[in-house]
Amino acid sequence: MMLKVVPRNTVPDNPDQPVPLDFSEAAAESPELRSGPLFGLDAGGLATVLKREGEPAWRGEQIAEAIYHQYITELSSITTLPLALRQKLEGEGWRIGRPEIAKVFQSADGTERYLVECAGAKPETVETVWMPEGDDGEAGDGSEEEQAGEGQPDAKTWRRATVCVSSQVGCAVNCQFCLTARLGLKRNLTAGEIAGQVVAVFDRHNVRVGRDRVNLVFMGMGEPFLNYNNFMAAVRLLVREVGLSPQRMTVSTSGIVPGIERFVQEPGEVRPKLAISLNAPNDEVRAEVMPINRKWPIAAVVDAVRPMRLRPHERITFEYVLLGGVTDRPEQARELARLVRRTGLPAKVNLIAWNPGPDFNYSTPKAETAEQFRYALAGEGIPAYIRQPRGRDIFAACGQLKRTLEA
Ligand code: SF4
Repeated sequence: MMLKVVPRNTVPDNPDQPVPLDFSEAAAESPELRSGPLFGLDAGGLATVLKREGEPAWRGEQIAEAIYHQYITELSSITTLPLALRQKLEGEGWRIGRPEIAKVFQSADGTERYLVECAGAKPETVETVWMPEGDDGEAGDGSEEEQAGEGQPDAKTWRRATVCVSSQVGCAVNCQFCLTARLGLKRNLTAGEIAGQVVAVFDRHNVRVGRDRVNLVFMGMGEPFLNYNNFMAAVRLLVREVGLSPQRMTVSTSGIVPGIERFVQEPGEVRPKLAISLNAPNDEVRAEVMPINRKWPIAAVVDAVRPMRLRPHERITFEYVLLGGVTDRPEQARELARLVRRTGLPAKVNLIAWNPGPDFNYSTPKAETAEQFRYALAGEGIPAYIRQPRGRDIFAACGQLKRTLEA
């Protein structure tokens, strides 16, 4: 009999339904789930699969340890499992099925961009970026005061790093300054495919969670809040199985109001920090550069954030792309400051001088223009930081991810 294989960790997006915390386990209990990738299931989900094989539940813990901590990618290499069990699982069509780095592009500044193969029901490649020493996006959140590199082997060439993760293949949001938008939306990524990018990059760089200082930003391809359930399931997997702190993760949204409203209700132990990609100081300019603003105007976006209960020292981040002559004037900085104050929450602004791409009618402002904008915000009492572009030469910088093969 042919068994139907359902996509792992894919649940319908219904804004009225809270995301079940035991989601992964629920997926594993599906009677249709009889083979396929194990990566993406949490320890409970893996235990369910193993119990159905007549094995004790703790075998699930052993698989979770192997795939999320030891970065093992072949069932046959999990030596904590008896050989006969490994062979049985493989014979039934189970595999680890973690996304794999297929191509690496290296920047002169140390940044690496990866094409990551996701071999799901519909194989696709997505992009993930590794930025040793970060991109200054963390500036002002207190983390720069921590001891960098504590307890790391001397051989390491980086003291801290940021991984930029994709949530969809392509994007439907159509921001006018972004190369990813030109791909359109190909498909959502599953939770395993989102978390798998992180683990594949950790594997490449021998990252040890608990020893190394790595931040995650969900700012790669796609709009995480248009793939909300899978995104949050990936976050829970990264927190509970991989062992990362949600306070080391930041998700950026283009302003999907129903998504923000759900996100602010997420419990603190699995909620990343929030960044709103604002990019303009009023509806008129924003609707031009981000057509999504016609659906959710700027005031609705800012107001949706207001109920958020922040952790101690946490701040909301507003991302703001400076487009020469369009969004970079000092009076626009003062307008932006009023919006930021409207949240009533501790906040900061990350300024990003636009990263150029082919066939755009935008320009990158001069460094002194960006500095004047930052200064005008500071004059309004809003902390602002200019993010350093990383990996522009390999199309890895913000807004440049479109699976470019040359670089
Ligand atoms: S900036 Fe982000 S949300 Fe906007 S089109 Fe690009 S990937 Fe999508």
